Amino acid sequence: MIVLKSRDEIEKLRRSNRIVAEVMMLLRERIRPGVTTGELDELAEREIQVRGGSPAFKGYRGFRHALCISVNEVVVHGIPGDRKLCEGDIVGIDCGVVADGFYGDHAWTFPVGKVSAEAQRMLDIGEAALMAGIAEARPINRLHDISAAVQGVTEGAGFSIVRDYVGHGIGRSLHEEPQVPNFGTAGTGMRLRSGLVLALEPMINQGTWETEVLDDGWTVVTKDRKLSVHFEHSVAITDDGPDILSRLDE
Ligand code: MG
Ligand code: MG
Repeated sequence: MIVLKSRDEIEKLRRSNRIVAEVMMLLRERIRPGVTTGELDELAEREIQVRGGSPAFKGYRGFRHALCISVNEVVVHGIPGDRKLCEGDIVGIDCGVVADGFYGDHAWTFPVGKVSAEAQRMLDIGEAALMAGIAEARPINRLHDISAAVQGVTEGAGFSIVRDYVGHGIGRSLHEEPQVPNFGTAGTGMRLRSGLVLALEPMINQGTWETEVLDDGWTVVTKDRKLSVHFEHSVAITDDGPDILSRLDE
């Protein structure tokens, strides 16, 4: 079932997403060689609670952390711990918050110190693919206009789109209908409507699009162990166009 949100509900979603965006800004400042993923997770949990939210991922199907932290070949769902970030790594941070019954969900991939030219190009293309998808998130368009735009930017740059994981609706649940694939044919899929709120989240691989899950049951890696990046915004579709809820006004 697809739930359209009222103006009031969109403001509540904006509040949860604002907490996520603020925490992400603090994390970005903390990322440097030598910091552990566990330290980033502790910081996030504290800062979410200070802002009146709760970490949405903690307890989700038994996950024990506030963040998913996915380094280099890890696509998504990396588990925070003792791993120290190293110069040249790329680190994907995914953060979810629930506040007043509404969810926020936002992810970004950051460079650690100076990264290779190829890694930087993946970061640039990942962000560009997300923004191209968001630009299609408007009434009259169809769902797969978003998917096709993301896929076009990604494959046009010579990278591949992960098929096994997709974006989603968001509201009173972290994951709502519809699923939003990052690949597809423009002009197909459900008609987009004002009040639909979607978490758009392309996962982009340097090599093959294929992934596998490690023995811990969570960590998703690229099958060829090449790099992967992940960018996500929660976006409300309005009559005025896409409204990015998980972005701070600069
Ligand atoms: Mg997320
Ligand atoms: Mg998500």
